[in-house]
Amino acid sequence: MIKQEKMNFWEGETCEYCGGSIIEKRVTLHREVRGKYVLIENVPAGVCAKCGTRYYAANVLKTVEESLRGRRAAERKVVVPVYSL
Ligand SMILES: [Zn+2]
Repeated sequence: MIKQEKMNFWEGETCEYCGGSIIEKRVTLHREVRGKYVLIENVPAGVCAKCGTRYYAANVLKTVEESLRGRRAAERKVVVPVYSL
């Protein structure tokens, strides 16, 4: 039996900085891994409605880490132009 995921993980949670309510949103994370710029899309996060602070569930962070370590194949690759002066 697979445990069903809670519909709204962040329901009833409040921001630890301003006390605002936390709303679940899908966000894009930007990380640099071994000199390569990596985007992780559709990351479920709790975002404070007042101050915008993002919170991540432990299992979400674990999946992000696994993605960054190359244990999951990237969905697609985009080329990011980089300029240096
Ligand atoms: Zn807040």
